[in-house]
Amino acid sequence: MSKEKRRREALVYHAKPQPGKIKIVPTKPYATQRDLGLAYSPGVAEPCLEIAKDKDNVYKYTAKGNIVAVISNGTAVLGLGDIGPEASKPVMEGKCLLFKIFADIDGIDIEIDTKDVDKFVETVKMIAPTFGGINLEDIKAPEAFEIERRLKEELDIPVMHDDQHGTAIISAAALLNALEITKKNIGDVRIVISGAGAAAVSCTKLYKAFGANGKNIVMLDSKGVIRSDRDNLSVEKLEFATDRKIDTLEEAMVDADVFVGLSVANIVSPEMLLSMANNPIVFAMANPDPEIAYDIAYKTREDIIIATGRSDHPNQVNNVLGFPFIFRGALDVRATKINEEMKMAAVKALAELTKAPVPEQVNIAYGETRLAFGKDYIIPKPFDPRLISEIPPAVARAAMESGVAKMPIEDWDKYREELLQ
Ligand code: NAP
Ligand code: MG
Repeated sequence: MSKEKRRREALVYHAKPQPGKIKIVPTKPYATQRDLGLAYSPGVAEPCLEIAKDKDNVYKYTAKGNIVAVISNGTAVLGLGDIGPEASKPVMEGKCLLFKIFADIDGIDIEIDTKDVDKFVETVKMIAPTFGGINLEDIKAPEAFEIERRLKEELDIPVMHDDQHGTAIISAAALLNALEITKKNIGDVRIVISGAGAAAVSCTKLYKAFGANGKNIVMLDSKGVIRSDRDNLSVEKLEFATDRKIDTLEEAMVDADVFVGLSVANIVSPEMLLSMANNPIVFAMANPDPEIAYDIAYKTREDIIIATGRSDHPNQVNNVLGFPFIFRGALDVRATKINEEMKMAAVKALAELTKAPVPEQVNIAYGETRLAFGKDYIIPKPFDPRLISEIPPAVARAAMESGVAKMPIEDWDKYREELLQ
C-alpha cells in the first residue's frame, strides 16, 4: 500500500462513521420509569450510602473495578515525539480499544495538559477514585520514571507505565525462548543494549531479574557507550554503565550474543552483525524502522534469531501481548500494585505458551500453515485465544503469592471459564 493511500485510509477510519474509536454504553436496563428510578434518583442514593459507609463497596456497586485509565501528556507519542495532549488522543483511544477487545476491560483515555511532574502526579492522584487501574502511556523519560514511581507509591490501585514494562515483559519472554533455542545461558551471554530511554532501562532491569549478568551488559545512548567514567550520568544510566574501555556500537558488538535495540533506525550494519557470536539474537525494536532491516539482517547471517516491532515480519514484539492480560489478572484479584513478581509471572506464562502446540485458528488468522516454537516463532501472536486464559491467571496467582491481592481467587477452573466468556 502506498504511503498516501495508508494515510487516507487511516484518516477515514478515524473520522467515519463517527469520530474516534470508543464510546460508552449502559450495562443495566433503562426502558421504563422504574429502571430510571433505580439507575438514577432516587434509587442511586442506596449504593452511594453503602459506599460512604465502606469505600470498598465502590467495587461492588460501580464499574470502577473494570475501568483502566489510559493517561498521557503527549510528550513521547509513538516515535512522533512531543506532539501534545490532543494529538496523543488517537493513540490513547486505540489503547482503550485494545483493552476492550483483548481483555474486556473498559479503557478511558485521559490526556493531561502539563509537562510538570508534580502537577501530573497530583492530577492523576485526584482522579484515581474513578479507576480500577492506571496505564501510563507515551510520557517522556526521565519524567516518566518519577511519575510512575510516585504514583505506584501513593496509590492503592495498579499503576503501570506500559512503554517501560510492556516492552520489557514481551521482549524478556522472547529472550528466554531465543536463549533456549540457541542453548545459551542468560547468565553467560554478552548483551548490547542500544538506547537508554524508558523502554531500554526497564527491559534491561527485567533481563537482570531473570539472571542476566550486569558485567556482561553494555548500554549505549545517543552519545555512545555508557561508561562508568562518563560525567553527568543519570541514576538510571549509571546502573548500567560499563567498566570496559570502549566507546562505539561497533566495538560493543564484537562477540556479543544478544543485541537489543530500543533507539533509532538503521544504526546496525551487516559488518557489526558479522562480528557477533554464533547464533546471535537480535531484537531490533525501534519503531517504525528497526535498528537494522529484517531482510538485510537475515541475508547477512542465517544463524540469526531476529525480532522487531513490526507486524510484517515474524517475532513481532508487540505490547498488546501484555497490558490487556496483565491488567485483567491484576483487576480480578483487586491487586494494589503491579509488582515484579506479577511481571515475571507474565513473562514465564508468555514464554511457556509459545512452546505449546499452536491452535489452527491462529495459523488461519495469520495466513500460516504450521506455526511452531522455533527461530521464527519465539513469542505468541496477539490473536491467540489462549492468551486470555493463560496470562491473567498467572498474573493473578503471582499477585496473591506476593501479598498484593485484596480479593484472592478461590476457584481457578471457574476463573478460567469466566475469562473465556
Ligand atoms: P526514549 O525514552 O526517548 O529513549 C530513546 C533512547 O534512544 C535514548 O536513551 C537516546 O539517547 C537513545 N538514542 C538516540 N539515538 C541513539 C543512537 N544513535 N544510538 C543509541 N541510542 C540512541 O524512547 P523509548 O520509549 O525508550 O523508545 C525507544 C525506541 O524503541 C523507539 O524507537 C520506540 O518506537 C521503540 N520501542 C519499541 C517497542 C516495541 O517494539 N514494542 C516498544 C517501546 C519502544 P539519549 O538518552 O542520549 O537521548
Ligand atoms: Mg506507548
